[in-house]
Amino acid sequence: AETGALAPIQDYLNEIHARVSKIEGGAPADYIPELGKVDPNLFGIAIATVDGQLYTVGDARVPFTIQSVSKPFMYGYALQHHGRPRVLEQVGVEPTGEAFNSIVLDEVANRPFNPMVNAGAIAIAEMMQGGTLDQRINNMLELFSSLAGRKIEVDEAVYKSELATGHRNRAIAYMMLNTAMIERDPEDVLDLYFRQCALKVTACDLAIMAATLANDGTNPVTDHKIFDTQYVRDVLSVMNSCGMYDYAGEWAYEVGMPAKSGVSGCIIAAIPGQIGICVYAPPIDKQGNSVRGIAVCQDISREFQLHAFYNHTNV
Ligand code: GLN
Repeated sequence: AETGALAPIQDYLNEIHARVSKIEGGAPADYIPELGKVDPNLFGIAIATVDGQLYTVGDARVPFTIQSVSKPFMYGYALQHHGRPRVLEQVGVEPTGEAFNSIVLDEVANRPFNPMVNAGAIAIAEMMQGGTLDQRINNMLELFSSLAGRKIEVDEAVYKSELATGHRNRAIAYMMLNTAMIERDPEDVLDLYFRQCALKVTACDLAIMAATLANDGTNPVTDHKIFDTQYVRDVLSVMNSCGMYDYAGEWAYEVGMPAKSGVSGCIIAAIPGQIGICVYAPPIDKQGNSVRGIAVCQDISREFQLHAFYNHTNV
């Protein structure tokens, strides 16, 4: 039975899902061979509110790998455990305007430009605490399990597939070893990074994780406090400027929500004080962003006036 104010959100989700299902274009990523095996028609949307309600449509409970959507949460962890000055020494906050896997460091400090591109995320992966790789892996799994509010595990097939073929990321890690931006054995850092990208999640999980960012760092379902408010603001800021790679500027202009995409075809967005959104649809465009994911977020932004610079007093 539909009740009161909640029914319109579900009606809207059903309607947008049907409408965007007709949008074709893009193709699932296959540079990680295992990702290329996905059903390209999967399409799910989940919205979690800061008071812990969940709205879903379509394939919102089908598992996929989180890929780059892990990056903002690893960044939040690094800030939380090492503090802002230490983290900024290793990774900047400047958009690159380049592809997610570009092999580039800034010329002044030899730092990766930001934590949302692979170089920055690999440097951030090194900051996971733990005396051994096993402990670091466990701490990483615990972080994501507390963010999702359920036990999160690695998709071994995707992890092994990227471990075997991720030579570009290997090049990035060794380049950063050369400039002392990472200090540990690059293979060890990459192992954690590939596992973090291969975490098995659903659109529901990611909507709750995004809602944790929207909710000042507290998971709205479990009430578990994960990040301090000050660091949530940092995370949302880099998502806003860098989360969609070389589409980030256009995204900020048109959609105006801090967001992050992953090559598995997921996009999250967070509206502080309101909701976390996840769209999952595997076909991605040239920049590595889900084609249907972008379409849904554009529509949600317009429909609910969620652009960051919409002036709500101006009615
Ligand atoms: N694991 C992927 C990679 O490093 C993540 C990239 C992405 O989702 N944009 O290539």
